[in-house]
Formats: sequence, structure tokens, C-alpha cells
Amino acid sequence: MTKISENVICVTCPKGCTLIVTRDGQTVIDVENGCKRGHAYAQQELVDPRRMVASSVRLKGGLHPLLPVYTSAPFPKPRISELLSVLRKVEVTTPVNLDQLILENVLDTGINIHASREMKEIVK
Ligand code: SF4
Repeated sequence: MTKISENVICVTCPKGCTLIVTRDGQTVIDVENGCKRGHAYAQQELVDPRRMVASSVRLKGGLHPLLPVYTSAPFPKPRISELLSVLRKVEVTTPVNLDQLILENVLDTGINIHASREMKEIVK
């Protein structure tokens, strides 16, 4: 058994606790500091790290050329650059509602992309 201890910043809530995680391979043995959610985060971070992603897609017919978007759930961290490549190719047309579905099941992850804000159509 090879025990390793390392600091992991929990990003589950704004408090951002520094967890001292002792692990053997991908199994967490002990977590110092933080709450129950932080301990679950430490285990998840070892086997399947994920992050909420906020980005933007191109927008046609609106006040701004870009529409801010977000993932419906934490996205697999190793695939975030792949996700950003997909988003760079997306263009939506106004009007757009807040939380409107922009992409469903992106990259077969079961995670959707939604609009972070409403964008009205600009009539010229
Ligand atoms: S350990 Fe708990 S309190 Fe600390 S950042 Fe994570 S969720 Fe928040």
C-alpha cells in the first residue's frame, strides 16, 4: 500500500476549503478539513474530475455577437477543450430565452448546454 497525501481545493461551494487528502491509488483513505460534500468531491476528483463550464457561442441578430452559455452539470475535465471546440462552431439566432436549450447531450455526455441570458432580436 502506497499512501500519498496532497492538498485539494474543494470548489463545491464558495468557501473553497483546502482538503488534505490521503489516498492509495484512486481510493481516498482519509480527508482532513471540509464537510461531507468536500469528502465526496475529493473522491470524485480522483476518479472522474469534473467542472461546470461557462463559455459562449456566436449569436446572430442580437445586441451582442456572443451569447453566454453554461453546462447543465459538471463536465468531464479532460474533455473540456473538446467541448470548447464544439461551442466555437455553434451559432444561434435571436430571440433567445434565459436557460434555453442550445445543445442537447453534447459529445454524448448526457450534459446539455443552456443560454445564460436572454437575448432579444434587434430589428433594424
Ligand atoms: S468542503 Fe464543504 S464547506 Fe468546504 S468548500 Fe467543500 S463543500 Fe464547501
